[in-house]
Amino acid sequence: MPVSEFQLIERFFQRGRVRRDDVMVGIGDDAAEVRVASGQSVVVDVSLLLEGRDFQPGEPPASLGHRALALGLTRLSARGAEPAWVTLALTLPAADESWLEAFSSGLLDLADRSGVQLIGGDTTRGPGAVALHCHGLVPVNREVSPDGAAPGDLVYVIGRLGASGLAILALAEEVRLARTAREAVMAQLYLPEPPLAAAPVLRGLASACLPLAEGLPAALEIMTSRLGAGATVHTEQLPLSAALHEVFDRAGGWSLPLYSAEPCALALTVPAAAQAVLEQGLTAAGCEFAWVGMVEATPGVRFED
Ligand code: ADP
Ligand code: MG
Repeated sequence: MPVSEFQLIERFFQRGRVRRDDVMVGIGDDAAEVRVASGQSVVVDVSLLLEGRDFQPGEPPASLGHRALALGLTRLSARGAEPAWVTLALTLPAADESWLEAFSSGLLDLADRSGVQLIGGDTTRGPGAVALHCHGLVPVNREVSPDGAAPGDLVYVIGRLGASGLAILALAEEVRLARTAREAVMAQLYLPEPPLAAAPVLRGLASACLPLAEGLPAALEIMTSRLGAGATVHTEQLPLSAALHEVFDRAGGWSLPLYSAEPCALALTVPAAAQAVLEQGLTAAGCEFAWVGMVEATPGVRFED
């Protein structure tokens, strides 16, 4: 964007409250600089959201800012990493100030609560797109693998399934919900909370972990297939969103909680010997979790009820 780019950045993106000691150069100069202590690995995630595909023009801009960051922070949490820095590349058809105000508030409120510093980015005119790079830290050799599940491991889900998918059905007016249920699922779709508190518990403990961005079967397939394994999931153990219980059949039964995206929920596996430590740790961290099945030597993902 022409002359006003610096003013826009100063006004909307420089008001994050987090000032980390490890940021040597942040917003304002051409390239940011951060320091990494020895013994730490950096986990990097990129989320690219395109208007019309990953978000609709009708989505509240505060939600878009929050959601873009929540997706990235969830992916860092799945690796056991603590979020540290983010950079933002933003393309907008026009420099709409009220849009930027709401978008940056949504993003920076979550960043402030998460101890994350926005350290730079780029802003240009063009079709609506948000690209967020999230960087997190994890002690070397304590990171969680995306695909290290071995036969005998237990499968858990953190969070609840089906709320985001139900919100999308409700927006399309394919399912009618009572007012409180509608509010709950809309909050889950538009303002999901990343499972940051789970990361330190999973670190050095979980054998595999992935967000449910494409549903549980897809995640389990990736988590188990590298070691030639598979999994059985007991559907009666799945933690469904409360709103879904009430409209389960009308909302399409099991296909919604199994196959719709719940981007801030996690699937994870742990060796059976780590079960007690995992459950105590997640309970102490205030995470909602459920045991849902087992990793097995037979490839493929099976469901039983
Ligand atoms: P120019 O485009 O005029 O060369 P830059 O793109 O270098 O200016 O941006 C100036 C500063 O503002 C840089 O430090 C850059 O990292 C930062 N910045 C630009 N856009 C954003 C954004 N959307 N969010 C955060 N920081 C940004
Ligand atoms: Mg620029």
